[in-house]
This record gives sequence, structure tokens and C-alpha cells, in this order.
Amino acid sequence: MKILVINAGSSSLKYQLINMETEEVVAKGTCERIGIAGGKLTHKANGETFVIERELPNHTEAISLVLQELVDEKAGVIRSMDEIDAVGHRVVASGEAFTKTTLVTDEVMQTMEEIAELAPLHNPAAILGINACRAVMPGKKMALVFDTSFHATMPDYAHLYAIDYDDYKQYKVRKYGAHGTSHKFVSGAAAEYLHKRPEELKIITCHLGNGSSISAVDGGKCIDTSMGFTPLAGVPMGTRSGDIDYAAVEFLCRKKGMTMAEGLTYLNKKSGMLGISGVSSDFRDLTAAKAAGNDRARLALDMFIYSCKKYVGAYMAALGGLDAIVFTAGVGENTPEVRKGIAEGMEAFGIKLDEEKNNYRNDGTIHDISAADSRVKLLVIPTNEELVIARETAALL
Ligand code: AMP
Repeated sequence: MKILVINAGSSSLKYQLINMETEEVVAKGTCERIGIAGGKLTHKANGETFVIERELPNHTEAISLVLQELVDEKAGVIRSMDEIDAVGHRVVASGEAFTKTTLVTDEVMQTMEEIAELAPLHNPAAILGINACRAVMPGKKMALVFDTSFHATMPDYAHLYAIDYDDYKQYKVRKYGAHGTSHKFVSGAAAEYLHKRPEELKIITCHLGNGSSISAVDGGKCIDTSMGFTPLAGVPMGTRSGDIDYAAVEFLCRKKGMTMAEGLTYLNKKSGMLGISGVSSDFRDLTAAKAAGNDRARLALDMFIYSCKKYVGAYMAALGGLDAIVFTAGVGENTPEVRKGIAEGMEAFGIKLDEEKNNYRNDGTIHDISAADSRVKLLVIPTNEELVIARETAALL
């Protein structure tokens, strides 16, 4: 069975064709600058990289070009589209409308349109991608895999905000979380690595990248997560503030003459690591700047680590114990300093990191970085969201 995984952005589209028998990526690539001048497809297959520079006026044209490449004599990996058994689409937000992977129908797409405002930066783009695939591959089975699904198991007292309950009921304003496919993948992979059933484990998963979120996973089910109604909440991120007192935002908006929408852009795009350091949102730049003596870069990193540490502590309490902490994503997999900072001072809770093991060279495999006498396992597990999407799609079929 072969599954095509699609992750559509407003002007980009990433894809992977996965052979489910081996879970191998047969081909993958990215369409860039869809709908703007300078369209480009980068396609990797058969050990080679193929680049096509061509205008891609819309997502339908982009998908058509991808399919053309997949069956191409040289760049292709299949003889015809019939060899694609189904398509799995990544969707960021589901609201309360969908709590699990869902087969695409006209009715489902109608609901998708209705909940698009929940993730205005992401869901409309996913809809474009899904509609494009439906136009180019009529009749092909397609699944929607939601980033929020893994968090649907959070109990009401964890996912509600303390606002008027009637407003929650009417407007569905509550915590939904994000990065669910990643938290699901790494918590499952941790259980497998530890030769345990997920039901036996209490795990804290730290997806630390440009966007970061931390989840508490009890017996394979998410019981809490740091992101909220949108991915703005939780720990400070590349350009996002993370948790902040709303009264401070209102005050800032008044002082700086910003509208509510401008205030939101300020918190989403100009805050976080970038805002504090004034250097960059990128952790590579931040660690380099700190090493060169930049104190604001030091401060940004300290704030990030401190916030992550507090979430780990809170989730240990929520879980009532802890078996493993998993680090994943760009920063989690590549920044030993951050992992060390989060674990430091947690020895009293059975968390002890081995410095030498922590300083390994990233080779894309799982690493156990815990000290021999650490009661809690500390693992670095490369995330694979596409594989979760493909597995969920295959399971639905
Ligand atoms: P992500 O959102 O998961 O792609 O992560 C992006 C973040 O990961 C950026 O802040 C990068 O600085 C960081 N990152 C990605 N790759 C590396 C690397 N090889 N070394 C250090 N940091 C990295």
C-alpha cells in the first residue's frame, strides 16, 4: 500500500509518498511560491534531486505537477496514479468538530469551511490542498489527520479556560493544543524503545522547534498540553510570546496604539526569542550569540529553558509520577544546551542527564541521554509527523 501525505501551506505544499509495507519514503518534495511569481518544485526520488522552476498559479497546478513527477520516467517512482492507495492530509485545527482522523466527504469539507476561522493561518491552506487533490484525483480516498486529535483526550478541567461556561459552549473557546501528531509519534516510539506498552508509561513529550509545545501523556493518552486555543500559548517560542497576562497585552496595545489584531501579530511574530534577544528567532543564532557574550541572547535562552522546566514540573504533578521525558523537533533534537538546562536541578525528582551522552552528534536516531542512575529516562527521538499521517490514513482504509 502506498499513501501520499500532503501538508499544504498558503504558498507551499510538502509531500511524501510512503510505502506502508516498509514505512519507507519512496519520494518526497516541496512546491514553493504557489500563487506568487517564481514557482518551484523540488522533488527527491531514486537517490536524486529534481528541480522544476515553473509558475504555480494555484494549489491544483502544484498537485498536478507533483503527480506528473511521481509518474515521470526518470524522476518517478510509480507507473500510474492508481498505485497511490490514498492521500493523507495534515490539518492543524479541528475544533471540537473532529476528534479523530476522518475520511473526506462533501459534508466533512463543509464542516472544514465552517471551522476554518479557528486556525486562520493554517486551515484555509489545508482546504486549498484538499480541494486541489480532489480535483486532480477524483474518487481517490482521502483522510484528514488533525494536529489537535491527540489532545482530544484532555479532561474538561484541563482543556477549559476559566471564562463564562456559556461562552465556551457557544463559541467553543477552549484549549485545543497543537503538534499532536508529533507528540503521538514520539510518545509511541518511546514506549517501543523502552519495550513497554504505552498504557504502562507516564511520559512528558517536549516538541521544541520554532514553535514549541509540551504534553503530558498518561498511558498513551494526552492529559494536558502547553499550547492553547491557538499555538500562541505555552512556552516562549521563536517569535511567539507564549503565556502572557491579557491585561499586559491590553496595556501594551493602548500604549503603542495597536489594534487588537496588531497586538496579536506583535505576540505571534515579534515576541519570543526574537523579541527578547533582538538577535534572531533561530536557536542556532541564539546559542552562537550567547557564546559570543550577548547577554540578551543568554536571557532569551534562559527564559525558554525556565519555562520548559516549569511545564515539566507541572506535568509531573498532573501525571502523578514520571517514567520518561522525550525531546524532539529542531531544537529538541539539535540543542544539547537546552536539554541540559531543562534537566538541570531536577535530580530530586529522579531526573539526571548524562552530559557526555547528551553531547552526541545528531544522526537522526533515538538517543538515551539519561545517566545510569536516573530514575526517569531522558530520550531524544526524531519526530516523524508524515509517518503518523500515513499510518492513520492506512488504518482508516
Ligand atoms: P523546527 O521548527 O522543528 O524546524 O525547528 C527549528 C529550530 O530548530 C530553529 O530554531 C533552529 O535553530 C533549530 N535547529 C534546527 N536544526 C538545527 C541544527 N542542526 N542545529 C541546531 N539547531 C537546529
